[in-house]
Amino acid sequence: MKAFVVRHDRPVFSAQKCSDSAEAEAQLAHYEEASAKVDEDIHAMMKKASNSDEVTILEAQSFMLKDPDFTSRIRHLILDDYYNAPMAVETAAGQIIDQLSKLGSQMFRENIYDVQDIASRLISTLTKEKFTNIKELEEKVIVVADTILPSELLAMDVSMIGAICLDGGGSTSHVAILARSMNIPAVFALKDASSRIESGGLAAVDGLSGILYIDPDEKTVRRIKREKRQLEEEERLLKEDAVLPAITKDGVRIRLECNIDGIDHVESSLKNGAEGAGLLRTEFLLMTEGKTYSEDEQAEIYAQLASAFSRRGPVTIRTYDVGGDKVVSDLHVDEDNPVLGWRAVRFCMSRRDIFRTQLRAVLRASGSCPGRIRLMFPMISGPDELDDVLSFFESVKAECRSEGIAFDEDMKTGTMIEVPSAAITSDILASKVDFFSVGTNDLTQYTIAVDRGNEKISYLYKEYDVAMLRLLKYTSDSAAAHELDLSMCGELASDIEFIPLIIGLGFRKLSMHPASLLSARRLIRSLNYSDCQVLAKKALDMTSCRDIEELVEKFNAEIRDNQQG
Ligand code: PEP
Ligand code: MG
Repeated sequence: MKAFVVRHDRPVFSAQKCSDSAEAEAQLAHYEEASAKVDEDIHAMMKKASNSDEVTILEAQSFMLKDPDFTSRIRHLILDDYYNAPMAVETAAGQIIDQLSKLGSQMFRENIYDVQDIASRLISTLTKEKFTNIKELEEKVIVVADTILPSELLAMDVSMIGAICLDGGGSTSHVAILARSMNIPAVFALKDASSRIESGGLAAVDGLSGILYIDPDEKTVRRIKREKRQLEEEERLLKEDAVLPAITKDGVRIRLECNIDGIDHVESSLKNGAEGAGLLRTEFLLMTEGKTYSEDEQAEIYAQLASAFSRRGPVTIRTYDVGGDKVVSDLHVDEDNPVLGWRAVRFCMSRRDIFRTQLRAVLRASGSCPGRIRLMFPMISGPDELDDVLSFFESVKAECRSEGIAFDEDMKTGTMIEVPSAAITSDILASKVDFFSVGTNDLTQYTIAVDRGNEKISYLYKEYDVAMLRLLKYTSDSAAAHELDLSMCGELASDIEFIPLIIGLGFRKLSMHPASLLSARRLIRSLNYSDCQVLAKKALDMTSCRDIEELVEKFNAEIRDNQQG
């Protein structure tokens, strides 16, 4: 395929300052006009957006455009320092980027791209000059770029992009998320690739190994094509498996559900054979900029989701898990230690107005589809907190009854087990709810005291840590003793290497990202439950993470050998 090279050359604009306040006022008006135009463009793109990832990214950009810190810096540079409008935008963006780079975390790096994108668009609107050489693509190409701004990717004709190769970036960047949602293979961190190939030159991308070949020989192209065909065939076979139940070879049924953020994920979940939604992360309802969902709107969304899954299985609605790294700027004040702070039910119990609306909406939705909606509370830290939350829920139910609102009186309620104190008291919690769902993402973070988003200490973040296995086993035993429904909805539930161990620990219900369902189902169908139990028993006797890793590796190697043999 031919390469199409995108480089972001700095636009040319005058470095001349304004001569007087009248000129400065004119530059300010010029900037405000450009800002309104860019916002209009963003909203037009939002209307055309084909999925929620695109909308979220565009919303972040519209938000950045109007960010008070950004806009007041620009105003100050123009009115007080007499900068012309493009200079002021470039300088203000530079200052904010400097600040963000010092903060280090991935989340802030993503904000840097948003600032860069917004600044580029403002400047190109102000100077009426194009930043990049992006144009209408006439044939399918491999885009090789120094960087691609989300707005640029959204402006391109997706059907003409065979792959994207970037000098920088990473797999969790906004562009990576967009590329995934558009089904475009993407390769990152290629250093100076964009300056080593010219537009029109031949290129090939090995999506599996993440290698960009410049001017590849025929043999390489044939190999890449062959591997791509194999991959497509494998995906096709996996899809055929989607209709088969996840049953181990010795007949133990494992339920596979999906984790979803909203309506968008329903189609892929159903296609991949989800047997219900084990986790609906409702915080997305609070995170939509400039919008609050009324009781009616929420009830409608929840009922729609329950009906979309219909007889496949119930939808487990988790009440708002805001706070921690999911800060909603309108609702939160800055906290020194947000992960241990005003999060999830702690937030909801002090903002009962918001919580009540959500609970009433869930109850109302349940009235139209009894048995198909379950309610789950996040971040419960122990029996007292659970009692308080449940008693508030009872008061909301009583309120609905007195208003004659029909709801599912037998609606199942459960708690997430994602705080170590909840796992340790799971024997007590088990008598208060109908189900447990273990959130290994947070349980790991809090058990090992390792920030789940901090790359510097990610070597410690092991969901199968010795301490974690003990907590998982204790929770599983507590659930079994009370004949409680038990599932896992953290990322560990979809880790193909660790599924045998998780099943062996007693988890017969796993909830995961829709994309992981097919491979999880195929794996489960190749397992013997009794072998998984033996594996879990051995792992629980181990005293080091490395030994657990080795044990699991050996177990998986044997499964693979058996499959091939
Ligand atoms: C978890 O903590 O494992 C979990 C599923 O919740 P979230 O990732 O939304 O915090
Ligand atoms: Mg969690």
